[in-house]
Amino acid sequence: MRCPACKRKLAAGARFCHHCGAELPPELAATNGKWYHEPIFVLLMIFLVLAIFGLPLLWKSPKFTNRQKAVVSIVTIGYTAAILWLMYYMVFVVILPYYNQLKNII
Ligand SMILES: [Zn+2]
Repeated sequence: MRCPACKRKLAAGARFCHHCGAELPPELAATNGKWYHEPIFVLLMIFLVLAIFGLPLLWKSPKFTNRQKAVVSIVTIGYTAAILWLMYYMVFVVILPYYNQLKNII
């Protein structure tokens, strides 16, 4: 992609032209972003792989509004808490009593 002011080549993800200093229009800067800032990639990483650890990726991406970042963060924290609670429940309510019963039989 090229600077609209001086027509020279721009670095990927640039918000300003490093030749003439012109500020790029937001829609141009957005199409010039990094692939890992794409909303679909960020959301997939958060929900499939990183959970709460994916939040820095979300906050660094220029392609979400602050409101969207806040909403996704809250959903992610809730979803991480739900997984932790489910793990706790599985171990202490489902597996341990079963294990103790098994121990009494043997
Ligand atoms: Zn320029």
